[in-house]
Amino acid sequence: MCYNVVMNDLSANLNTLRKKYREIFQKSAEEISKRIEELRPAGFEGDFLDDCKEWHNAVLKMFDEDIARDIYIKWQEILAYRKMFHCKRCATCCNLACSEFSPEQLKSKAQNGDNFATQFLSVFVPYESKEDARKIYPEYIKMLEENKEDEVYFYHCPKLSDCKLCTDYENRPQICRDFPDNPLSILPESCGYYEWKQEVEPVALLCHSMMEIIEFYKEKICTSSQD
Ligand code: SF4
Ligand code: SF4
Repeated sequence: MCYNVVMNDLSANLNTLRKKYREIFQKSAEEISKRIEELRPAGFEGDFLDDCKEWHNAVLKMFDEDIARDIYIKWQEILAYRKMFHCKRCATCCNLACSEFSPEQLKSKAQNGDNFATQFLSVFVPYESKEDARKIYPEYIKMLEENKEDEVYFYHCPKLSDCKLCTDYENRPQICRDFPDNPLSILPESCGYYEWKQEVEPVALLCHSMMEIIEFYKEKICTSSQD
């Protein structure tokens, strides 16, 4: 199969995604704040972050038993729906994997028992230079340069043949089989899961915003109980 990436303006897509996320986050924050208020103990007139154990405990219970459960169910539905889509073997993810970690950092993580780092290093080798990686997916590198402040390292898989086919497809490791396991990953339009990502992205963003907000409140509760 010929390798062909349909180019898209990723920076514009990313900005749209950020805008969508801000709107969803705002709605989630309002919804959670309303639910917290509904649990206010009778007669208590203070602020939520005042030390009110009864209120905090009720909210933590609601987070764990209602919201976290809902997020889990929604995420399982997203992953189940992924099975309706299939890899088109465009080879982009084999040819360009990126990580915030350098090869040395990944090695050290693997030596310390990090399973993902071990799997990643068993598949990918680093590109000699960013320019080599740029030839594979120039829009993606451009978008990272425009938006990412931290260093990003680029890798590729040596098992990919010159005609962009996996030479060991039947035995490909689990991380290859699972990719993409998150609809919030950036995917090329050539990816067979691109449509899945587009369809489930609003729900995934909602789940992400809910998780961020409950983590924020949990931290505040924890800090206020230590004061
Ligand atoms: S093992 Fe095969 S499927 Fe996995 S990254 Fe390499 S070429 Fe791609
Ligand atoms: S998972 Fe997507 S990006 Fe990776 S080879 Fe398959 S179709 Fe291409």
